[in-house]
Amino acid sequence: MEQIPVHFDARVLDHDTGTAMHEAAPSPWFAAGEPHTEGRLRIERMHDVLANGPVRDRVRFAPGRLAVEDELLTVHDADYVAEVRRLAERGGGWVTPTTRLGPDSHVPLLAAAGTALAAAESVMSGAAALAYALTRPPGHHAQRARADGYCFFNGAALAADAALRAGAARVLVVDWDVHHGNGTQDIFYDRDDVLTVSIHMDHGAWGPSHPQTGRLEERGAGAGLGFNQNVPLPLGAGNIAYARAFDEVVAPLAERFRPDMIVCASGQDASAFDPNGRHNVSMTGFRTIGAKVRALADRHTDGRAILVQEGGYNPSYAPYCLLATFEGLLGTSEPTADPLGYLPDQTLGLDERFAALAAELSEDRLSRLDAPSAPSVSSAAASPRPRE
Ligand SMILES: [Zn+2]
Repeated sequence: MEQIPVHFDARVLDHDTGTAMHEAAPSPWFAAGEPHTEGRLRIERMHDVLANGPVRDRVRFAPGRLAVEDELLTVHDADYVAEVRRLAERGGGWVTPTTRLGPDSHVPLLAAAGTALAAAESVMSGAAALAYALTRPPGHHAQRARADGYCFFNGAALAADAALRAGAARVLVVDWDVHHGNGTQDIFYDRDDVLTVSIHMDHGAWGPSHPQTGRLEERGAGAGLGFNQNVPLPLGAGNIAYARAFDEVVAPLAERFRPDMIVCASGQDASAFDPNGRHNVSMTGFRTIGAKVRALADRHTDGRAILVQEGGYNPSYAPYCLLATFEGLLGTSEPTADPLGYLPDQTLGLDERFAALAAELSEDRLSRLDAPSAPSVSSAAASPRPRE
């Protein structure tokens, strides 16, 4: 029976984001403190649901590891990596209005990055077809030289780069965290060996740490023009919108790009109950996402994909949404009942939005993605399948 390795390193729990008012610095008006929304509880409970829930026999926990700084330099600038280390050594602090570095955060951040790399190694070595890095803090907002949105080092980007260095020729990154994967976009913006697709709610640029907008117009630059696709969806978008994003945008792009590895930035903050999201995805939607990732992998990458944990901030519901994602990946026949979901799906404005996306996928645009017709010599593990 297939078991998906879930790479986990308990040291990531020691990244102490302290108390907050949701995600901002605490307000003096409240006597009782609350933990910062990006705290350890969310990941502890995701670990529990996989360890004890209905897929417990279909997953196996596998170790993470610490990244070494040289590995971080594959996607981050040296000055930035040194700056994060020095700030942690000085006791940490708020690096953006929502992003806090704790006094003992440096090792946890290295464990978060290293655990994403460990998942990449599981897949690239052939030990597993799918591997999941269950880690925190998230990483997809971390840009080449800038922390943002709780993120310091970009685990999904590190995994994508590691896949390239291990022999993959063309990596598709699919990001369904409810926020724009601006860090991953920034890191690969001028490259044509990584196609980044981010599905997210309309939130636009949110300040100096997040200058990117997440809009359609951000398509990549130079050699990477056409290799960045944003899929901004209206507030309230739910299961149908995410399924359409995969069917109408991700799938046709992948058909032309023909990736030989897929990296997923897997968030659950598109759920209807997330404090950080205004989308309306339920367990049903996350199960569909898992199944669509599996189908993409079966079609393009011999069933292989590397998944890295991103957001998901409701400690009650996000673990169930992660469970549903696994059920979709595994194709389990008896989906777990949703303990909370009840909101009807919102389809207002979706046709207009997908018409705009369809216009983006012009032949002129798609032809830029066409893989070379000869099989890639650097991709020993997975020879590209002929286009059908
Ligand atoms: Zn997010």
